Amino acid sequence: MGGGATAGVTQDDVLAVGRAIHAALPTGRGPRHALDDRAMDFAAADAELRAALFRFVDVVPACHSLDDLARHLTGFLGEVGDRPPAIAAAMRLGATRAGRTALGAASAAGVKHMAHRFIVGASVPDATGVLRELWHRGVASSVDLLGEATVTAQEADRYARRCREALQALADAHRDLPPRPHLEADGLGALPRANLSVKVSALTPLLRPEAPELGQRDAAVRLRDLLRTARELGAHLHIDMESFDSREAIAELVIDLLGEPEFADGPSAGVVLQAYLRDSPELCDRFIGCARDVPRRHPLVVRLVKGAYWDHEVVEARQHGWSVPVFEVKAESDRNFEALARRLLEARAAGVALRPAIASHNLRSVAYAVAVTRALGLSDDDLELQVLRGLGDDLQDALAACGLRVRTYCPVGDLVAGMAYLVRRLLENTSNEGFLSAQHEGTALEELLAAP
Ligand SMILES: Cc1cc2nc3c(=O)[nH]c(=O)nc-3n(C[C@H](O)[C@H](O)[C@H](O)COP(=O)(O)OP(=O)(O)OC[C@H]3O[C@@H](n4cnc5c(N)ncnc54)[C@H](O)[C@@H]3O)c2cc1C
Repeated sequence: MGGGATAGVTQDDVLAVGRAIHAALPTGRGPRHALDDRAMDFAAADAELRAALFRFVDVVPACHSLDDLARHLTGFLGEVGDRPPAIAAAMRLGATRAGRTALGAASAAGVKHMAHRFIVGASVPDATGVLRELWHRGVASSVDLLGEATVTAQEADRYARRCREALQALADAHRDLPPRPHLEADGLGALPRANLSVKVSALTPLLRPEAPELGQRDAAVRLRDLLRTARELGAHLHIDMESFDSREAIAELVIDLLGEPEFADGPSAGVVLQAYLRDSPELCDRFIGCARDVPRRHPLVVRLVKGAYWDHEVVEARQHGWSVPVFEVKAESDRNFEALARRLLEARAAGVALRPAIASHNLRSVAYAVAVTRALGLSDDDLELQVLRGLGDDLQDALAACGLRVRTYCPVGDLVAGMAYLVRRLLENTSNEGFLSAQHEGTALEELLAAP
């Protein structure tokens, strides 16, 4: 028996699962992917350069001309002290008007290309081809309509309307697809094909930590309407989790709404649990309690993630002198993720009507969840694995090849609405602490699969 064992699951069990998934990873990546990876390496190598490029990506939507774009790019790059040759060449181009036009066009194309890796289309109809292709390859999807925080009631209404239209378009797009039994049912019954992820902060402009009831009441009106639409269409509605200041309001809102008698018969719905939060075990228990005690036709889906707002939470808490709500050591988030995965799976094995969905690109985290599922005597179908489009493509293919149910989270929207999303994904992909960077740097498999 290897080290790092927890009750019922040994490190050897995790290693066996991890090695099997790893062996199924696609080999011979296309030239496009390799080029993207080189660009990521380039950005990751230097903290100043990385910061400059993120600031640039952030201002792209506000630039009115190629000249403007090039001026911003060279402005940010000018702050990088030790310039690699490619950056020095870009700075020289920026010195003339013709050079700036060329540089602006090249950088706009670069940003667009990056965005296409993470964003599947400008609208759901536009994305249908990708979603149907995923299904044909044995991969389910969840669509996310890009657009960050809403500031007016009109924007919230518009987002709610886009969500309703998306639900309809998703139901239409999935209707005539061939059967994929392990994507459509688990031990607890049928799984909807159409699946939409929504953000509460986009459903109300009033979600404020100092007066959560106001935002909850306002969001509830639009969310109820979406739940009704999803029920009518037989679709799944997933409520994403955002930064910590809205966490409690969102969790309470969703638990309350799903407990309303009119939703006892549907739709299928889900919540998100963020393992980087120190107090996440308490919320985990509340979700398990909700799944156990509130009789609903569709089991509650609990998507377990680590959390996408780590830098924001740390900076915000330090600025205000608050205690930091997230773990500050990466391994602590990883350990908590495993403990929560086990807790959710144990609840499921004990007969609670709950569907654990493990969302991670970290092979160790995923292999651990699969090993626990098997050790508890559950079937592989009782576990869902989820990845993000653009970050988890290879893992997605490997999991599907291993016969595991995988759902890919597919953002849809235009580049402007997608910028905040894109910057978060780039930060994740090039972060020194992240699993993907370690994997990309060629860290040995045994080390990648070591207990955190
Ligand atoms: C399908 C899907 C849906 C998602 N939905 C949401 C959502 O609704 N809400 C949300 O917040 N996130 C969401 N995420 C993003 C997720 O929270 C993670 O940011 C992302 O998956 C990276 O984690 P990982 O396990 O893949 O990789 P890993 O590299 O193993 O972990 C990276 C994560 O570790 C944590 N971390 C990094 N540095 C430290 C540190 N110093 N100390 C402590 N912890 C640290 C952060 O959470 C970081 O994102 C989703 C992810 C997926 C795959």
